Parts: sequence; C-alpha cells; structure tokens
Amino acid sequence: MTDYSVLLPCVPRRLEQALPFAGLVRWTGASRLWQGQAMVMEPHQTFTGLAGAGFRVFLGARRRDRLDELAKEIGEAATALALDVTDPRSVSAFVGRLPQTVHLLVNNAGGALGLDRIEDAREERWQTMWEVNVMGVLRMTRALLPTLLASGDGHVVNVGSIAGFETYIGGAGYTAVKHAVRAMTKTLRLELLGKPVRVTEIAPGLVETEFALVRFSGDAERAKSVYRGMEPLVAADIADCIVWAATRPSHVNIDEIVVRPRDQATATMVHRREGI
Ligand code: NAP
Repeated sequence: MTDYSVLLPCVPRRLEQALPFAGLVRWTGASRLWQGQAMVMEPHQTFTGLAGAGFRVFLGARRRDRLDELAKEIGEAATALALDVTDPRSVSAFVGRLPQTVHLLVNNAGGALGLDRIEDAREERWQTMWEVNVMGVLRMTRALLPTLLASGDGHVVNVGSIAGFETYIGGAGYTAVKHAVRAMTKTLRLELLGKPVRVTEIAPGLVETEFALVRFSGDAERAKSVYRGMEPLVAADIADCIVWAATRPSHVNIDEIVVRPRDQATATMVHRREGI
C-alpha cells in the first residue's frame, strides 16, 4: 500500500477526531481514486479502523503531552512532534523529522485573542494573532511545498473562518488575519495552477472548542456564554469537512467549504433560546 502521509500541524484541542478520519482513508494507487471508508465518530472504533489503514499521521503542536496522548490512542500510524508555527527553527526541526514524501498538509493552528475595539487594540495580541494565523500558515506551506509537489498528488487545507469574509465589532484583529488566510489560499491556488497540488479553505462559524477560552484568556464563564442557548458545531463537524475535501478524486479541487451551525446566520446573528 502506498505510504500516504498526512500532516496535521497543530492538533486542535477538540478536533482530535480529524486525525482518525484522515487515518481511515485508504489510497488505492492503481485506480487513482480515493476510497473513504465509513467515517466512524466513536473514537475506539475509529482507532481500530486505523490499524488497517495506510496512513501515517504527523501531529504537531506546542503541548507535547496532549499530542503524545493522542498519538498513543491512534497507534503506530501516528507520530507526535513538537511544533510552534511562530518559530522558524521549530518549523524546520518539525519538517526535518518528516518522511521524504508528504501528500497532505492541514494548516489548522490559529485562534483569536481578545475582542478589543480598534481604539483599545493591544499590539501584542494583534502581533501574536498574525504570527500564528498568517505567518504560521506561510511558514508551514513554504516548507512543505517541495515535497507536496514532488508527491505528484499534494493537497494544502487551510482552516480559515467566516471571519475571513465577515467583520464584527471588536473582531478587527482576528478578521484581519482570517481575511489574510483567505487571500493566501486563493493566491496559492493561482500560483500552483498546472501543478499537482490542490488548495482548499475550510471556513467554519461557531465551533465549540477551546477557541473562546483562549480568546478570553481562560475566562470559562465568558467562553461558555459564546455558545449560550444555541447549538454550535463540534470539532468532528470540521474534521468531516477536511476529510471530505481531501478524499475527493485528485482531479477535483474543493476550493472552499463554509460551514456554520443552523443557529447562526452571520458572525453576530445567532438564534438563541432558553433551555439548551
Ligand atoms: P483551539 O481549541 O484553541 O485549538 C487551537 C490549536 O492550535 C491547539 O491544538 C493549539 O495547540 C494549536 N496552536 C496554537 N498556537 C500554536 C502554535 N504557535 N504552534 C502550533 N500549534 C499551535 O481552537 P480551534 O477552534 O480548534 O481552532 C482551530 C482552527 O479553527 C483555528 O485556525 C481557528 O482560528 C479556526 N476556527 C475556529 C472556530 C471556532 O469557533 N472554534 C471558528 C472558525 C475558525 P497548542 O496550544 O498545544 O500549541
């Protein structure tokens, strides 16, 4: 079976299901078709399914303890590596540990810091958001492009946001960086025209992860209020989109997937009700 490497720089805290999904995809080299096995949401079933799959998954994030735990659960198909996408040396070290051929890069690292109006903007928050969301994607993509091209069938998936094409009060720092992710994704597609690498953006609305907790500096009550009275997406919904895009036949490029909860019409128009 072809050694099909999937790279997930930065395991989202509650996006773990993304990895098993990717691992459940088998490459049938002869027919040049992706064949996705049934997507299993229940982790144990998923991990069992992984054992027979031809994927190797390289997980990268700063907190090795979480990564190690996850890699252990996935089994020998997964390797956990420390990665800080804001540090060029960390990116080089990470890339240096990968196999010669990599087919899929999922740029997922990112997030928001604060909800400050421009008049109150804190420079360090804006700079950190730029470093993680924009420079991180640039560094990882630039570092991996040679191997993605050489693979003959590469794919870059960037996790953007509806903040990449909407704005809201207090969101200028985050919407600016996600607009930039969108611009990078579209530019990359232009630059790779005629070459064997697909480029996709996944743009989610509200997903209940640790995103809001990070945004509000660990204030759990404030973070919880983001999802009050509505049913948000969960990490597995985004994983589902990533895997679906990655498992189309290689001549099919899914440009973008915008995915929101049914309870959300725009970044700020959210249907809330009592009792949930
Ligand atoms: P999350 O729970 O806070 O996860 C963020 C992940 O990024 C963590 O695994 C974190 O791991 C990693 N990370 C952060 N900084 C990093 C760095 N410098 N280097 C390497 N890894 C780093 O948030 P999430 O919701 O899963 O976010 C995932 C992506 O979805 C982000 O790009 C976010 O902007 C986007 N998004 C989220 C939502 C939402 O509502 N949740 C909506 C739209 C888009 P470590 O801290 O261990 O490094």
